[in-house]
Amino acid sequence: MLIKNVHVDNQAALTDVQIKDGHFSKIAPNLVPDAGEQVIDGQGKVLLPPFVESHIHLDTQLTAGQPRWNESGTLFEGIRIWGERRQELTKQDVKQRALATIRLLVKHGIQHIRSHVDISDPRLTALQALLELKEEVKDQVDIQLVAFPQDGVLTNLQEKGLMEQAIKEGVDVIGGIPHMEFTTEDGWESVHYLTRLAERYDRLVDMHCDEIDDPASRNLEVLAADAYKRGIGDRVTASHATAMGSYNDAYASKLFGLLKRSGMNIVANPLVNVHLGGRFDTYPKRRGLTRIKDLTAAGINVSFGEDDIQDFMNPLGDGNMLDVIMMGVYVDHLMGYHQLQDSFKFVTYNGARTLHIQDQYGIAVGKPANCILLNAPDFYHALNEHREVLYNIRHGKVIAETRPAKTQLYLGF
Ligand SMILES: [Zn+2]
Repeated sequence: MLIKNVHVDNQAALTDVQIKDGHFSKIAPNLVPDAGEQVIDGQGKVLLPPFVESHIHLDTQLTAGQPRWNESGTLFEGIRIWGERRQELTKQDVKQRALATIRLLVKHGIQHIRSHVDISDPRLTALQALLELKEEVKDQVDIQLVAFPQDGVLTNLQEKGLMEQAIKEGVDVIGGIPHMEFTTEDGWESVHYLTRLAERYDRLVDMHCDEIDDPASRNLEVLAADAYKRGIGDRVTASHATAMGSYNDAYASKLFGLLKRSGMNIVANPLVNVHLGGRFDTYPKRRGLTRIKDLTAAGINVSFGEDDIQDFMNPLGDGNMLDVIMMGVYVDHLMGYHQLQDSFKFVTYNGARTLHIQDQYGIAVGKPANCILLNAPDFYHALNEHREVLYNIRHGKVIAETRPAKTQLYLGF
């Protein structure tokens, strides 16, 4: 396959990209197609590596309204509703909804997904469904599964055993939720326990960490210190870290030093964080988001996730990462022209770092030929006008194609 006239990675220069045997073989202007080679005319549009969904819960998606709607919109009502809904989980139910979600993601240019999966259910139904599904769809999308102890690994007495079982069944990543444990001390102990497990079983780490507007919720420093001391920082991620939006600046400055030394990753979920954050405030009302701009400026890796699509936490969402970026740049004041042009990195290269797949990711000769063609001359226009992913290409094969809708105006001017 030869893709002509594209701005690779949103760069100003136009070039061509050739693919052979599922890998990028040449990147240079004026390439000539081989006889019979498929040619895609990029028409001066942007070619990026596929979008990375750094944080989603495939087991809970598309359950909005089941068994009832989260009318208060709070995290705590959401968790209660999920407690009821998960009683009814079957493998088939999980697989059907996860597949429907994956179709939405692929349509919007995603090929790499990190999905948390709730392991509080002693039957581990959702985990088994998603382990099967991961294998079934691996030619089209990569799925990393995170064992997520929704009720707290120390708070729910069965959870430690379930975590070990989930690891043995094949999860890629160890999750956690230290700020939801009974006490501050339990939160810290859960972090130590889980990072020890990750080291013992050679797994990545991604915890829901300090997803609360409480400036006293400081599990992130414990996780970062553990990651640093164990030398596993690039394999460790803190998701949400929204308490950071409430920390004082002196403490944040000290924390940033530790985060930087640890080399760990932060995932922000701008849509869901804004929706669930600030719920206990009257006015002034906090934004409920981590410090995306400051972390990025400090050289700490931040990527974005959707977290929830049409479920008990978030009634909206359709798999489009442009919505996530749009919310992130507005809420955290990343609205400078160059910040907007660069904002694709939150859902591409930064996401690949979070998922620890950077070796196999990116548009470069020799790497797997995974890429997306956006219907825009640069990322600013793609974001601003919600442009389509025209082609989602995996190992040199088109796995999704979108024809833009056309509007005809009858205004007389
Ligand atoms: Zn989550």
